Amino acid sequence: MNRVSYVLILFVLLISCTQEDDSGLQFSSKGRTVPAFSADSAYSFIQKQVDFGPRVPNTYGHTETRKYLENKLRSYAGSNSVFSQEFTSIGYSGGRLNMANIIAAFNPTEADRIMLCAHWDTRPRADEDTARTADYIPGADDGGSGVGVLLELARIFADNPPPLGVDIVLFDGEDYGTQGDLDNYFLGSRFWSKNPPVPGYSPRFGILLDMVGAENAQFPKESYSMTYAPNLVDELWEIAAGKGYQDYFLNERGVAIQDDHKIVSENTDIPVIDIIHHYNSSEGGSSVFPKHWHTHQDDMPIIGKETLQAVGDVMLELIYNRI
Ligand SMILES: [Zn+2]
Repeated sequence: MNRVSYVLILFVLLISCTQEDDSGLQFSSKGRTVPAFSADSAYSFIQKQVDFGPRVPNTYGHTETRKYLENKLRSYAGSNSVFSQEFTSIGYSGGRLNMANIIAAFNPTEADRIMLCAHWDTRPRADEDTARTADYIPGADDGGSGVGVLLELARIFADNPPPLGVDIVLFDGEDYGTQGDLDNYFLGSRFWSKNPPVPGYSPRFGILLDMVGAENAQFPKESYSMTYAPNLVDELWEIAAGKGYQDYFLNERGVAIQDDHKIVSENTDIPVIDIIHHYNSSEGGSSVFPKHWHTHQDDMPIIGKETLQAVGDVMLELIYNRI
């Protein structure tokens, strides 16, 4: 083989590899109709979870909310398309924590898929509060909001079949760990990514929604997300700017945040990004997170329907019109 053809073949191989790697992360407007997102509906789904009480493993609120989420998702995806992946872990008191990742598949026979996720558990302590730090938090935003938006998307998918397969994965045990004890955070996403319910599952990408419901929330481009799938982040943030939501989806790079998206991205081939309320400065108080984070203030009064609307509109435009 002469040098020219060798170089040519190498070049073609490189191009095709690049295309294959990125093909799921190329976006353009498809001219399709995009259904409407109801912030009122998403809000009511958050309220419902908060009404059950904190969703801490081995508590009444956790058990009842699990049943509610399973039934709600069955009503939208069909009873054969919802699956709960049960798992356990040893808690700080030495007892066994009973947990479950809740999964719903829309267009289950479609090979071309994306994954949308959130954590449905809530934190068993208010370690950022000044009082009652050992008590459970309501978790309206941290836990409740991501699930609320995804339930509203599920309601929409039931009436308007999305153009490809969509899996909603609600992780349990995200927020169990004490500060700094990362082994006891992300219990559900770690179990899920090491025990895939569907062997060889390879959606184009995943989007994690975490703390997406507070009034005046800010979502800089979280730093790990920019490493895993920069095209996807840029596309979502451009959609947001086009809709006038640039005050929520800030066009600036955020910090690197340990969350379920990092666990899944590191343990599987699935690039997952995180839409998460945080700051680059000390604006949020003692940390990069908002003041209500891991306190008893994380309750319904801090939830803003305008924020839910912004997140929902951006997600629907991506899913129905850009993929
Ligand atoms: Zn949290």
